[in-house]
Amino acid sequence: MAASTITIDGTTLTLEVTRKAVKHVNARLHGSTLAVSAPPRMPQAELDRIIPELARRLLRRLAARTINQEEDALALAQRVAARFPQKIVVAAVSFSTTQRARWGSYSRATHSIRLHAALRHMPRWVLESVVAHELAHTVHFDHSPAFWSLVAAVDPHLERSDAFLHGVTWLGNSWESLPPVERAMLTRSPDLRHEKREERED
Ligand SMILES: [Zn+2]
Repeated sequence: MAASTITIDGTTLTLEVTRKAVKHVNARLHGSTLAVSAPPRMPQAELDRIIPELARRLLRRLAARTINQEEDALALAQRVAARFPQKIVVAAVSFSTTQRARWGSYSRATHSIRLHAALRHMPRWVLESVVAHELAHTVHFDHSPAFWSLVAAVDPHLERSDAFLHGVTWLGNSWESLPPVERAMLTRSPDLRHEKREERED
């Protein structure tokens, strides 16, 4: 067994690789140790390619669970629901690490909201805006003028958070193609620090 470390998205894990008679590569996360078992004859290069992918998936799954425990997302959603003139039922809120296309979705069958996990790191008013949007769909299933006037009535940050999310989407889509010097400038932007400060004040 060889032990080393691996850093995934800023998280450093102790890596323990065991060669044994398994068909596929298996990975388990025990605290900050990533235990991997690999078929004896799998080339090291292939293993080096697979391990970061497995680690990232496990860390994401762990993050999704932690989010739901740390923050009472349901309580937040119920606070937002209480702003509505109608009675809004919200039974569960979960954060998803697999939901990429949309910021949120609402299931009428289970009265539950699924949110993009990245929302958790954004200012609270952005998260609340997405929740308000999804809850408004319990009244209006479309994006009709009636829908938007309801959202406007219950979400004081509607336009601001819409612009914020457009910016996030743009940055996410553009990041890879931005020259490194511009990326470095963006990560040191004073505006971003300003957003963080606001979030703490909320
Ligand atoms: Zn919508």
